[in-house]
Amino acid sequence: MAEAEKRKRVLVVGGGTAGWMTAAGLASLLGQHLDITLVESEAIGIVGVGEATLPHLRHFNRTIGLDEMDVMAATRATVKLGIEFVNWGRVGDRYIHPFGDYGVASDGVGFHHFWRRGMEHAGDIGHYSLPVAMAAAGKFAPPSDDPRSIRSSYRWAYQFDATTYAPYLRRHAEARGVRRIEGEVIRAVRDEMGDVAAIHLRSGEEIQADLFVDCSGFRGLLIEDCLHTGYEDWTHWLPCDRAVAAPCRHAGPLLPYTRATARDAGWQWRIPLQHRTGNGYVYSSAHTDDDTAHEQLTQSLEGELLADPRVLRFVTGKRRQLWNRNVVAVGLAGGFLEPLESTSIYLIQQGITYLVEMLSAGPTPDVVRNEYNRMMDLEFERIRDFLVLHYHATERDDTEFWNDMRTLRIPTSLREKMDLFRERGRVQAYDHGLFLEASWLAVYLGQRVVPQNYDQRADEPPQGALHQQFDQMKTFIAQAVGNMPTHQAWIDQNCPAIVENAA
Ligand SMILES: Cc1cc2nc3c(=O)[nH]c(=O)nc-3n(C[C@H](O)[C@H](O)[C@H](O)COP(=O)(O)OP(=O)(O)OC[C@H]3O[C@@H](n4cnc5c(N)ncnc54)[C@H](O)[C@@H]3O)c2cc1C
Repeated sequence: MAEAEKRKRVLVVGGGTAGWMTAAGLASLLGQHLDITLVESEAIGIVGVGEATLPHLRHFNRTIGLDEMDVMAATRATVKLGIEFVNWGRVGDRYIHPFGDYGVASDGVGFHHFWRRGMEHAGDIGHYSLPVAMAAAGKFAPPSDDPRSIRSSYRWAYQFDATTYAPYLRRHAEARGVRRIEGEVIRAVRDEMGDVAAIHLRSGEEIQADLFVDCSGFRGLLIEDCLHTGYEDWTHWLPCDRAVAAPCRHAGPLLPYTRATARDAGWQWRIPLQHRTGNGYVYSSAHTDDDTAHEQLTQSLEGELLADPRVLRFVTGKRRQLWNRNVVAVGLAGGFLEPLESTSIYLIQQGITYLVEMLSAGPTPDVVRNEYNRMMDLEFERIRDFLVLHYHATERDDTEFWNDMRTLRIPTSLREKMDLFRERGRVQAYDHGLFLEASWLAVYLGQRVVPQNYDQRADEPPQGALHQQFDQMKTFIAQAVGNMPTHQAWIDQNCPAIVENAA
């Protein structure tokens, strides 16, 4: 048999961020084993939002061979050191969830236990985080590789123009042999075993494949319309189901972080890019209406509106199986957890990573599919719990929405995590899944969930020495930040946008 005939035929349906990440990822990492085609419809278009990312995406870009500064220039990206949460615990509160650690652990005891012991002297735990101080000062320099340096204590991500990343990846994928077909999928047909055999385009063309990756967006053309996989709806835990989004002109310095401000019936994002600021109000349609949300968003913009606001609707949750028969759903086709912690592109990346690890030349046995689904379920569930924490850990009772969230019956898995932290200051550990200890600490402490007890070993240093350590740490952080360029200067020097002033 000729080499080309033995290669597994993969058809990616959809050319948004999920589709082109999948095509580029598979072509770069498994290109010699696969024959990859992507079909997309320009007439249908892409969702076109999704501007804040997580540090993991930098790893994905590196792994598939992209030049980071080139990606940033092409996507008009800025640096993201974390998310600032405003008005969440109480109106007037603010804290940053940074991509980095707090303080330094000592003899295996986490810094936050020492902080808890001396919190009256120590003040806000954010004072002991370098990325928090950098964000507040609008400064940026890349982290150091030297683990002894305080500059090794953080990571960073991008804030980018969501409409430019997929076209960028397309060039990369096509250069690695991915075949693109323009056309609208009108039907999928199944074989006698029930697997998907082929799709049909409006043009009359039929495309067959061995494996289908459904990246068709919320609708889930193959995973739902064809295979009827079913959807786990998590709206009862995360009731926000709409967003109104609009870009505006910049005002003020270029900030290296995303802002999430709690509003009457949800929250509002502010994402600074090189050429504009992205904004959106994510809200619960059971607690407010589109007109009110639209008005509240447009009235709060910092600069001139650059395009008409548009409303997006979604149902928070996930498919019952992300890999069903010979269809893997990646991106919005697989599920959506609202964008509060910028997790959607991360979930795309994880879907691709597990697929690369588990794909083989022959048919996929159930045991492999089950493992893929188990891993993806863990990812979704852990993110879900982390998101619910933001809404539930509040003292706000000023609107019906916040009252409902404060008194919500939360998932048992989250209840256990919160009880453990309140009791012992311990963050429940897990190996797989996003958001490890520092992230949980940021939200717990930022939203006034303070533990009653701490690790007894934190009582060892004399009080004077402990206070001195706190003060020294703050001095080191201030010095490190003082030596860094502004975020704007770093961008101008390393990755200025290729296309300026585009709306
Ligand atoms: C309000 C909101 C804010 C968000 N913010 C963030 C964020 O800050 N960070 C983050 O990581 N994520 C965010 N996301 C999620 C992010 O937008 C998506 O994960 C990402 O864009 C991937 O989308 P997708 O490729 O799955 O779907 P889409 O962009 O919808 O792409 C679907 C593709 O399928 C094609 N298609 C559909 N039907 C057919 C058909 N019949 N025939 C042929 N082609 C078809 C379309 O043309 C398109 O190419 C946000 C989402 C929303 C709704």
